[in-house]
Amino acid sequence: MRILLVEDEPEMAAALSAALKGYDMVVDHVPTLADAEEAIAADVHAAVLLDRRLPDGDGLSLIPKVRARADGIPIIVLTARGDLADRIAGLDSGADDYLTKPFSVEELLARLRAVLRRPAGLQSSHMRAGRLTFDFSHREASVEGRLLELPRRELLVLEALLRRLGRTVLRPTLEEAVYNFDDEIQSNALDTHVSRLRRKLTDANAGVEIHGIRGVGYLLKQQT
Ligand code: CA
Repeated sequence: MRILLVEDEPEMAAALSAALKGYDMVVDHVPTLADAEEAIAADVHAAVLLDRRLPDGDGLSLIPKVRARADGIPIIVLTARGDLADRIAGLDSGADDYLTKPFSVEELLARLRAVLRRPAGLQSSHMRAGRLTFDFSHREASVEGRLLELPRRELLVLEALLRRLGRTVLRPTLEEAVYNFDDEIQSNALDTHVSRLRRKLTDANAGVEIHGIRGVGYLLKQQT
């Protein structure tokens, strides 16, 4: 298994690399966001371990780029910042898990195993919520076996919401999931995609609903 480690502290990086190598993992270590972006473009890693305080910015800014290029890769954020607001920011930005330094290698390995078992990880490319099934590898949504015809951007919104089922996905995260770097984003375009998607999910009786938090973001919930 090949792991991408994004960490600028040489001692931390060396210790983690050595420890993970002992568990049959190949570790590619990069010290900056710029190097990490190049590395994820190759799309060969099973998971990303991501420090937050990096010389060229906050590690969290890498997450939408990982999602855009190498969709199902689990990301574990490693950081010295451990307070609640930072943990929420980390998870809301699309990370699969969050580990506060210092941590034991055993704990990191356990978290890695856990994220690799999740639907967004390598072993399953499907996720079910309500009566909706989403196939991440083909990016198709269906309700009880009937394919939902959705334009690409609505599919991308749905996918981003499903990956954080039951939790708020912030507007910038959704916008970055939906638009390429060179697209011009109109301020209300996201809301238009969401409202169309919401209507289609209702019409298809998908058993999930999209809730909006004004100015903050959206979340997808299973109907009870
Ligand atoms: Ca650092």
